[in-house]
Amino acid sequence: METILLLAHTEPDGTLAKSAFEILGAATSLNSSLAGSKIIAGLVGETVQSAADSIAKCGAVKFLGVAGADFAPSRYASDAAAAEAICRAANASLILAPATARWNRVLPAVAQRLGGHADTHITGIEASNGSISVNRWYYRQRMEASLQRKGRPWFILLEPGSQPAWGGERAPAKMETINVNLPETCKRTTVVGLREPTADAQTIRPDADLLLVAGAGWTKKQADGQPHVKEAEKLILGCLKLARASLGSSKSLVDLSGEGQATLSFLTHLNQIGQTGSTPRHAKGLATCCHGEEPHTVGWRFVNERRAINLDPGCGWARGKADVLYVADAFTVVAKVNELLAEKPAA
Ligand SMILES: Cc1cc2nc3c(=O)[nH]c(=O)nc-3n(C[C@H](O)[C@H](O)[C@H](O)COP(=O)(O)OP(=O)(O)OC[C@H]3O[C@@H](n4cnc5c(N)ncnc54)[C@H](O)[C@@H]3O)c2cc1C
Repeated sequence: METILLLAHTEPDGTLAKSAFEILGAATSLNSSLAGSKIIAGLVGETVQSAADSIAKCGAVKFLGVAGADFAPSRYASDAAAAEAICRAANASLILAPATARWNRVLPAVAQRLGGHADTHITGIEASNGSISVNRWYYRQRMEASLQRKGRPWFILLEPGSQPAWGGERAPAKMETINVNLPETCKRTTVVGLREPTADAQTIRPDADLLLVAGAGWTKKQADGQPHVKEAEKLILGCLKLARASLGSSKSLVDLSGEGQATLSFLTHLNQIGQTGSTPRHAKGLATCCHGEEPHTVGWRFVNERRAINLDPGCGWARGKADVLYVADAFTVVAKVNELLAEKPAA
């Protein structure tokens, strides 16, 4: 009989992020397939009551919280102490948590303190005949493994975007507060502030519905024999802003800046999608001026609907890599798309 603990941290405004609702979706579905199991919700943050209210109807038998100013920032020592206290109070056998940067660096250590096990980057979880399996990708998303463990407690960190989110109405939740007295040694690290790019420079948005990918073609000579990099920048930034999209790139394009060539000023290697880049999980993707070679498209594995715009009808996207290929000039298409998006009333 499993005790499933949903372990989440709250955001600075006291709410839960989308990834926490996704883990709750996984926890409720697991709970319904396991005989005799129960769910306990465990929350950590400056305040936790409002977050508990937002998931009050999830079927959890208990809501445990560690709250206070000491638990507001992402800090290893205080987060580990809070998570450990909640896990012990819940006597949990399975701990499901979102694989956020904050939890990824803390929960494997908490598993060690409790003599348990931890698996990170999990993308699937299911129970069949009382036995639980989790899925994880290896070798840059080329091989998928299904794992089972007998040892408990078992910490399972699920990738954001991999699970359908739980949805339910708010209601007052009865919170049990756990007091964690942090020794001074756990407070030596202080978070003095957060530095983020300005909203316009922020091009990577994991929660966006659309991934817009820019390839090296944007910087190449066009039909008039000239490159049009400034125009390309304007079109791409316009599309990102109007479609609220996230920006991905091919390796060739991000490498150009290192080679001293004219390139798009807002791109960094963090935007790179592919074998040596990232594998994001957006619902839709649109590749522009990108050839669609395998080392790039392998990063599109989790993008559900894929479209590409390329002048070349024989490009990689035409060979089973995209659902739709527009054989067209991306400068013209994106300009038209931006025009249409600008006419749309704001959602
Ligand atoms: C070990 C290894 C790892 C790699 N890892 C990665 C990786 O992680 N990510 C990655 O992206 N690549 C990776 N690569 C490189 C990859 O193989 C390709 O070289 C790269 O993806 C090509 O980038 P591109 O398509 O932007 O550029 P190009 O191949 O130069 O293609 C540009 C495209 O733009 C089109 N085009 C030009 N003008 C227009 C226009 N006006 N309208 C429409 N289309 C236009 C052209 O037809 C062309 O198809 C890796 C390679 C190796 C060997």
